[in-house]
This record gives sequence, C-alpha cells and structure tokens, in this order.
Amino acid sequence: MTPSSATAPSPAPAPSSGIPGGLAAKALAIHRRLCGVYGCPIPYFHDLDPVSELVSSLLSHRTRNAESGRAFKALRARFPDWSALIDAPTPEVEALIAGVTWPELKAPRIQAVLRAVRERRGVLDLDMLAGLDVSAARAWLEAIPGIGPKTSAAVLSFSRLRMPALPVDSHHHRVAQRTGLIGPKVDVGPAHAVLRAQLPADWDAQSLYDNHEVLMLHGQRCCHHRAPACGRCAILDLCPTGQARGAAPARREPEALPA
Ligand code: SF4
Repeated sequence: MTPSSATAPSPAPAPSSGIPGGLAAKALAIHRRLCGVYGCPIPYFHDLDPVSELVSSLLSHRTRNAESGRAFKALRARFPDWSALIDAPTPEVEALIAGVTWPELKAPRIQAVLRAVRERRGVLDLDMLAGLDVSAARAWLEAIPGIGPKTSAAVLSFSRLRMPALPVDSHHHRVAQRTGLIGPKVDVGPAHAVLRAQLPADWDAQSLYDNHEVLMLHGQRCCHHRAPACGRCAILDLCPTGQARGAAPARREPEALPA
C-alpha cells in the first residue's frame, strides 16, 4: 500500500525550527495553525472498550479506514465475545478480514495478542490500564509481541480510556519529517517519543488527540505523499521542505482546503 518514494519530495535535511524556543515552539505553532484549519477540539471517532480498540488498531496498519472498519464489523458480528476469536480457526479469521492488507499475518497476530492479554491478565480485559500512568500502560502493552508504540498509543488514546498518549501514523509522521520536527531517518516507532516530548507535558488527552488528528488530516488532505500541495499549505512558512520546493505562500484561507 505504500507508494514508491521515488517521486515524493525528500523531507527536510535536518530539524530546524527558525522559531525562538526551538522545536517545542515550532511544534506548538504547527499545532495551533492546523487546529485553526481543521477545527479543534476534534470529536473522537471511536468509543470502544480498550480490547476492541486493540483489535481495531491491529487491523488498521497500512489499511484504509473503510476497509479496516469493514473487517472490524465482520469480526465483531462473528465473535461478539472476543475470547471466541482467540480459539477460532485462523483461516476463518483471515477470511473475515480479507479486505485489509496482509490478512494472513494479521489474523494470527490478532489471535496471539488477545491470547497474550488473556494469559497475562487472567481475563480478556484491559480496563485496568486506566489505573496506570501512560508510561506504565504503554510499557504493559508493548511487552506483548505484536504491539508497538502506535498500537499502544491508539489503545490508550482512541478507546474509551481517553488517556493522554500520542499516536503517530504514516501521515502524521510524513508531515513531522517534512516540517523538520523530526529528522529524515527517524522512523515511525521512535518518532512517538520524540514528538510527544516536544508538546507540553501537562497536555490532556483531548489536546494530544487533536495534535495527532490535525497532523494526520494535514497529511491526508494537503501534504500528500507524492505531490504535497505546498502552494496552499497553511504551514508553508514553518516548513523547510515546502520552502525548498519553491512553493509560494498560500493566502491564509484554511476553510478553503478541500476535504
Ligand atoms: S509546505 Fe505543507 S504541504 Fe508542503 S511539504 Fe511542508 S507541510 Fe507538506
């Protein structure tokens, strides 16, 4: 699903904010600007229990939302109790999620991850994460093979736990690289800690969710992988990649951005 990077513009050669206060100030400036464009606070798109959010997140990697949503509904309809999914024949699970990328990998992974949760907890339930701080909750989840930083952050942020964690998806990551918030060699996994550290330590769950959502939306709607629309970008003046491409600053009419 990942397009070839041959025609995509290179990210900024090195982080350089050009704003007093460095990258933290730049991250805040980008956040505020994009919140103005996309409208914060952004409504949460899920209200799932954390185990269901875990399944949803594992389905979503490198997959369009519509496809992963269809796969989630198919699993939920077949297995109203997630425990039944763990012991189901893997080919049946794979067939139910055939529309996502790599169903042959995701089906056994989802079963293994849920099995690990059940074995560690004694019950297939993650509500106890609410009693941990974010670092401890992320560490608990990431100790399970198959759960990385993006999935752990998604479970904490997107589920009804509503904990202050910052997920970073491929769109968010691309915008962060091009604007120089992270260097060109910082992969998605390590980017989670770097980008979280640039934001105020006391931000609540909604603020961190907004940050993820506006950078993701900007990647989807303006900072496209192959052909970023720098000429109409609301953060061109903060972006060395766009400036290096010679884009002219856009008139600041954020509501004119296409959906
Ligand atoms: S100017 Fe905007 S669209 Fe262009 S690379 Fe930078 S963030 Fe992306």
